[in-house]
Amino acid sequence: MSTPQKFEFQTEIRQLLDIVIHSLYTEKEIFVRELVSNAADALEKLRHLQVFEKEVFDDRLPMEINLTTDDKARTFTIQDFGVGMTRAELIENLGTIAHSGSKEFLKALGESGAKGASLIGQFGVGFYSAFMVAKRVRVYAHSWRSAEPGHLWESDGTGEYTIEEADGQRRGCKIVVELKDECSEFSLASVIEASLKRYSSFVPFPVNLNGKRVNTIQAIWLRNKNEIKDEEYLEFYKFQANAFDTPRLRLHFSADAPLAINALLFVPEENPERFGLVRTEPAVALYCRKILIDPHPKDLLPEWLRFLKGVVDSEDLPLNISREMTQDRSLIAKLSRVLTRRFIKCLEEEAKDRADSYKDFYSRFGVYLKEGAALDATYKDELMKLLRYESSLTKPGETTSFTDYISRMKDGQKEVYYLVGPNRAAIEAGPYLEGFRARNLEVLFCYENVDEYVMTNVHEFDGKRLLAADHADVKLDDLPKPPAEGALTEEQTKTLVAWVKETLGDRVAEVKTSDRLVDSPALALNADKFMSPHMRRLMKAMKTEGAGDTPPRVELQLNPRHAVIKHLDAARTAKPDVAKLMAEQILDNALIAAGLLDDPQKMVARIYKLMETIS
Ligand code: ADP
Ligand code: MG
Repeated sequence: MSTPQKFEFQTEIRQLLDIVIHSLYTEKEIFVRELVSNAADALEKLRHLQVFEKEVFDDRLPMEINLTTDDKARTFTIQDFGVGMTRAELIENLGTIAHSGSKEFLKALGESGAKGASLIGQFGVGFYSAFMVAKRVRVYAHSWRSAEPGHLWESDGTGEYTIEEADGQRRGCKIVVELKDECSEFSLASVIEASLKRYSSFVPFPVNLNGKRVNTIQAIWLRNKNEIKDEEYLEFYKFQANAFDTPRLRLHFSADAPLAINALLFVPEENPERFGLVRTEPAVALYCRKILIDPHPKDLLPEWLRFLKGVVDSEDLPLNISREMTQDRSLIAKLSRVLTRRFIKCLEEEAKDRADSYKDFYSRFGVYLKEGAALDATYKDELMKLLRYESSLTKPGETTSFTDYISRMKDGQKEVYYLVGPNRAAIEAGPYLEGFRARNLEVLFCYENVDEYVMTNVHEFDGKRLLAADHADVKLDDLPKPPAEGALTEEQTKTLVAWVKETLGDRVAEVKTSDRLVDSPALALNADKFMSPHMRRLMKAMKTEGAGDTPPRVELQLNPRHAVIKHLDAARTAKPDVAKLMAEQILDNALIAAGLLDDPQKMVARIYKLMETIS
């Protein structure tokens, strides 16, 4: 036995300890993660070493990590039978800043000037995090080398530590954390267990708490997928996602380049955002060699993939630097790209090989793909290919893709046409489709609010502009002239058009003779470059300030072949008062069909007036 010898911590360690001890840090529980991960590292090192070394002290100890809590003595103890430490190693590893984890922490602290508190969680300050909760820490260590005796390292974290010989040690480390009064909850088994479950469930060695095994679920993402049963995946999913459903889709893959990745991703049965109210938080957890780094990494996947569950494990994030992840943009961005591309590919395969399953997925999660197509330029093209719409050529309930639409486009057609409406029946009943139908032009049907946003944001696909069929920019070819019989002559039409414009004044941007109407007398085209009728309705519904204050800008088109228009022309000279009412009513009818009529009250009064003229 020797007397305890005193040492001073290296200056940097003193600074570090000062921050650790004095920061009001909220996630104190991460000290458990740190000590467990050190224990696992020590066991891992021993496993490698045993391959070559014949002489290992205290051989045949179980490869496990044992934790005990004592709420009377207010202590927390962790013991592993790993490589342990010699006297020199205790000084080197626990008294100096030689190892990278804490060094990075101090570096970042210097750079950001941020409060230490917020950085501890990201970096983990390894062993020293024990001092967040400890009055005193005792480390009993015995190296795997037989030559040296065991030692006790001891400190209260305030600048000095002592080392003395200690007999009767088993191989490895036993760390006794004597808790501060205000941190005594960490001497409760339930508190430690919760923390172990959260951070250390997949540690590759048995972790026992007061003699009971805690980590029973395997890190199956690292296993060969051919050897994993569906039930095992299901059990893992339920554990990991804290879920009760059966995932509808799973992607288990590994990659070596550009990064070593093992990932296991799930799409849940139901989209939790489908009924509004909640916004899903990212839930694909980031691991490094089975140790949790971040359960909800913000930048690991793009926003629009927030519905995914599962884990991503990358060995390229060595544990000690990995907690700096959020700082390391390029590494995480690389990881994100690999994962996203791989998942998109999985959806492409699904769409191709299991159309029904894809359709069901799309009906619930398609909205995320649309969000991505509209907002994430990086994946826009791939995502557009995954979108599906009903169209004027599909049967109700059946859908088509942009790619298929383009393959069916007529010679000379430069644009992809779409119409937004609440459902198929409403779009088909409107006046806009008939001109396209008569010319055999396909129109995509969009039923969701987000569609409008996608179409206007994306703007084009495969070099073809996406254009609303009710927009004034749409120019359709002439149809073969219908029988001129009874239609207004060109001259008559010109005069009528001019008269209508004069009569309606500012209520219309322009009046034209129609190039597209077949069965309807008139239609209103949106002439507003910036706001579609649908968007205008939405903004009004949301009572957005300024929306709907100014009347919509429309182009009114008249069908000179239609009886109502012929009557109008006759009334223009015979009964000017009635003709004026008619013109206004024709415009209102067209606005109703366009979803642009703001005030139906005036219209009701006008209809009564019109009725009075019927004798
Ligand atoms: P890191 O784990 O990032 O290296 P830590 O502060 O957690 O940093 O640990 C510092 C060093 O102390 C480790 O690198 C290791 O060499 C040593 N160490 C800590 N805990 C143990 C243990 N249970 N057994 C053996 N060595 C340990
Ligand atoms: Mg560590």
